[in-house]
Amino acid sequence: GEGLPRPQETRVMVVANQKGGVGKTTTTVNLAASLALHGGRVLVIDLDPQGNASTALGIDHHAEVPSIYDVLVESKPLSEVVQPVPDVEGLFCAPATIDLAGAEIELVSLVARESRLQRAIQAYEQPLDYILIDCPPSLGLLTVNALVAGAEVLIPIQCEYYALEGLGQLLRNVDLVRGHLNPALHVSTILLTMYDGRTRLASQVAEEVRNHFGEEVLRTSIPRSVRISEAPSYGQTVLTYDPGSSGALSYLEAAREIALRGVGIHYDAQQAHAGA
Ligand code: ADP
Ligand code: MG
Repeated sequence: GEGLPRPQETRVMVVANQKGGVGKTTTTVNLAASLALHGGRVLVIDLDPQGNASTALGIDHHAEVPSIYDVLVESKPLSEVVQPVPDVEGLFCAPATIDLAGAEIELVSLVARESRLQRAIQAYEQPLDYILIDCPPSLGLLTVNALVAGAEVLIPIQCEYYALEGLGQLLRNVDLVRGHLNPALHVSTILLTMYDGRTRLASQVAEEVRNHFGEEVLRTSIPRSVRISEAPSYGQTVLTYDPGSSGALSYLEAAREIALRGVGIHYDAQQAHAGA
């Protein structure tokens, strides 16, 4: 991989948006692969019972596979469920199985129910540059566990009508968790996904998001791309499925921006290629 600056401490990024279908999982796996290709050591934690991130990374996650459920509910060490992702050096995944669907309820009666993922991550001894957590489309205890475990929230926003609608609830939850459980928590990154620069609607929504969030919005946006949507059915990210595609290049660029921001370097608009 290219020599991008690596963070001094592991950056834990929570990929959240309680709307479904906005590109959380796609962003998690493709950014993670990009960060790994740039030379980082990256762990994806699949926190969605659907297990889409596990599937997209080509990770076995049938019911008997040790999974993030065992970590959260059975206190199994994270190291016992992490698997290397085939084909991408430096990329790892803690898979989700269908068991996780019950965890939302089972967690309620457990001690430290909001901080079980945080504890598991703190006890994990392998060196990592990034942990990306793929959240389910809800704000229940699984997402709360992610918000307690990470310092950074990454919100993918699809450039469509009502893009900002419903985000208020996520932002209030971020405030609540910051106030009570995790003082370091903040929205660090907004990524515009499925961006179609040819439509006026998309550029209007992009402008609205930039006005609303400002500096947190990455200059790079992710275009709508068939290659991105095809890759998961081959158990691959777009980075290995079609490395030269616009989708692959845009995720590599977004990863670059994230890595540089982590050491305090912000792009100016001239440097951004895919900026909206
Ligand atoms: P979420 O995890 O928020 O529910 P997904 O990442 O699963 O959303 O994306 C929803 C759907 O949109 C998936 O079918 C995915 O393949 C598709 N998709 C996501 N990003 C893109 C993109 N940039 N171009 C084309 N299709 C995309
Ligand atoms: Mg998803």
